[in-house]
Amino acid sequence: MIIASNFKTNHTRKSTREFVLQVEEFVSKTDSSVQARIYPAATALDNFEVDSSIKVGAQNFYPTCKGSYTGEIGFEQLQEFEVDSVLIGHSERRYVLKESSELILKKFDFAKEQGVEILFCVGEPKEIREAGIDAVMAYVWKQFDGIDLDYDRLVIAYEPVWAIGTGLTASNEDIKEVLKRLRESIQKPLLYGGSVKVDNVGDILDIENCDGVLVGTASWTAEAFCKMIEAAQKNGEK
Ligand code: PEP
Repeated sequence: MIIASNFKTNHTRKSTREFVLQVEEFVSKTDSSVQARIYPAATALDNFEVDSSIKVGAQNFYPTCKGSYTGEIGFEQLQEFEVDSVLIGHSERRYVLKESSELILKKFDFAKEQGVEILFCVGEPKEIREAGIDAVMAYVWKQFDGIDLDYDRLVIAYEPVWAIGTGLTASNEDIKEVLKRLRESIQKPLLYGGSVKVDNVGDILDIENCDGVLVGTASWTAEAFCKMIEAAQKNGEK
């Protein structure tokens, strides 16, 4: 199970450190196979000394080691902090920051070449969901165009765009159906994301083929994030 927290544009360097240390303290007291991922703002990355089940990764990068890309961050800068996990294809980058499928694919190929874990996000907007499950799957499969689904450090997050940061969660039936159809062709961990909360994380983790969650808003306190890790630990004991 993977429990991931996307800080988006929240937390400072100081509060990120406090968060990571609290999660580390919680995890070090338990003995479980749950993997935690924390994606802070780039300015808050650091050489955190944490348990091997925790990775502090990057929300974004430019597909280069270094170069002249004003305002961007390349892998040389990420490697300084031993970043070993990156988010690619998040809906806020696709739709708010207008990142193209071409750039997303370049990022994927570059990150793959670097050998890091890739948490690749896909998901449909509301009008596609309203058109039914076949339209959803056609949309989602298109987002995988060119993506190497056999990359061994690939993790997929199914995140319906209309459920992200809105407080609306997809129904368990809808999540189950999408994950089932993805599982027919993808043998990598499948996460769900979209307004997951402490109150519903247990039920979501119970869904067949669900290997974890990617959480934004409801994961921004270490207490809440640790409760989600705890829910995953309990799920693993079943
Ligand atoms: C996310 O940022 O990936 C996300 C799922 O956000 P939220 O939990 O706020 O919907």
